[in-house]
Amino acid sequence: MIKFLDLHKINERFRTQLDARFKEVLDSGWYIRGRQDELFEKHFATYTGAQHCIGVANGLDALNIIIKAYGFGPGDEIIVPANTYIATILAVSANGCTPVLVEPDIRTYNIHPDLIEAKITPRTKAIMVVHLYGQAVQMQKIWELAQKYHLKIIEDAAQAHGAEYQGRKTGNLGDAAGFSFYPGKNLGCLGDGGCVTTNDAALAAKVRALANYGSDRKYHHIYKGINSRLDELQAAFLDVKLPYLDADNARRREIAAFYRSHICNPRITLPQTYDEKSHVWHVFAVRVQNRAAFQKYLEDNGIQTVIHYPTPPHKQEAYREWAAHSFPVSETIHREIISIPISPVLTDEEVRETVHLLNAWK
Ligand SMILES: *Cc1c(COP(=O)(O)O)cnc(C)c1O
Repeated sequence: MIKFLDLHKINERFRTQLDARFKEVLDSGWYIRGRQDELFEKHFATYTGAQHCIGVANGLDALNIIIKAYGFGPGDEIIVPANTYIATILAVSANGCTPVLVEPDIRTYNIHPDLIEAKITPRTKAIMVVHLYGQAVQMQKIWELAQKYHLKIIEDAAQAHGAEYQGRKTGNLGDAAGFSFYPGKNLGCLGDGGCVTTNDAALAAKVRALANYGSDRKYHHIYKGINSRLDELQAAFLDVKLPYLDADNARRREIAAFYRSHICNPRITLPQTYDEKSHVWHVFAVRVQNRAAFQKYLEDNGIQTVIHYPTPPHKQEAYREWAAHSFPVSETIHREIISIPISPVLTDEEVRETVHLLNAWK
């Protein structure tokens, strides 16, 4: 069986170092917001090129706290892609803001930069871009719109650690960014984790306070905050894995390049990218017409697949108020998309076998 994602195998590579850091944290007697957090935040900020990094409990909280820190709330609109994981949109709703959905570009699956301006109103406060499936959004037009209409750009970088646009990494392409370190992400911890990156010192301080009961120093509360902190263990594990992220992403790129040059079945639409460095291939999502049969065929032949995602956010029960809305491009993607195995621990043999089976599908 070729696993979609073998998390045990991924983390096994770091066992000795993870064990050592676990012991260090256990022995320290300090488990939340300490030395490990500080180290990882410093290293991840340097990695992204952003000046500040604040560890939080997960990716959804990262986005939620950014919106809170800007003070956006009821009556404010935030532009989001219609094609995304629902967490992006939940973060907007959680603050009482109105998510305004924009269709994706069918070639990149990311928000279509040319369709955003028509959705901007006097109530629009921010554009939330999602670097979906690991591909950095083409930002140029979005930067221009943000400047023209005085909007904030918030990145949902949960799937795109290390992806680049014009030589800059995600997390440093807007005003603030949220990352997730959920175990299956390109940089994942052994539990839940996330962070916010930004070049805005005041925003960073506010995010840090908001994530710790709105407190800027102990028992002194300047905001009605929440509890969303990255614990020392997860920070330590992330700090072990971060130095290998680029090599892991390079391996993902190598596999993606092999897939793209060797899968040649007219019934399978391959993902496109506009520049090699822009994509870190969090998932390799292909499109097919008869998805259920395709998935069963691969399953029967020992290949696990996952669908990212079966139902678009606007068709979810949680957003029943949008049931009548139509986003046909996003709906087509959700109907046809299916992700085949890609990960840094996939072997060449597994990659060749996957190609062979995809090419043999009739
Ligand atoms: C994983 C993910 C999130 C949420 O991250 P969590 O750490 O699971 O809360 C947000 N947005 C996108 C696009 C994601 O893939």
